[in-house]
Amino acid sequence: MNRPKMVNFKDPETVRDYPMGATCDSDHLTSINAGWRTFRPVIDQEKCIKCMRCFLVCPDGVIDKSGDQLEIDYDFCKGCGVCAHECKPKAINMVKEAING
Ligand code: SF4
Ligand code: SF4
Repeated sequence: MNRPKMVNFKDPETVRDYPMGATCDSDHLTSINAGWRTFRPVIDQEKCIKCMRCFLVCPDGVIDKSGDQLEIDYDFCKGCGVCAHECKPKAINMVKEAING
C-alpha cells in the first residue's frame, strides 16, 4: 500500500495552494498515529459499492484505492469518522479500538 506522500509545509500564497481532499499531497501528516485513536473505521467489503466517496472526503488521504478493494492505512487514520458518516450504503463501521492494540 502506498503511504500518504509527505512534503514540507509551505505557507499558501493563493487559494490554489491549499490542499483539497485526498487527491492532493497530505502535507500536514508528519508521523504515524501515536495510538490515541479510540475508534477505527472498518469497511464491509460486501456492502461497499466502490463509489469512492470515502476516498474523496477523508481529510488525511489514507484510503487506498489501488487494489481490488478499498483499504485503510491505520498507521495514519486518525479515526475521525468522516468516511463512515459520508458512506451512503453504511459500509463503514466505526469499531472501538482494543485497549492493548
Ligand atoms: S463511501 Fe462506502 S460504499 Fe463508497 S467506496 Fe467508500 S466504503 Fe465503499
Ligand atoms: S476515520 Fe477519518 S482519517 Fe480515518 S479513513 Fe475515515 S475519514 Fe480518513
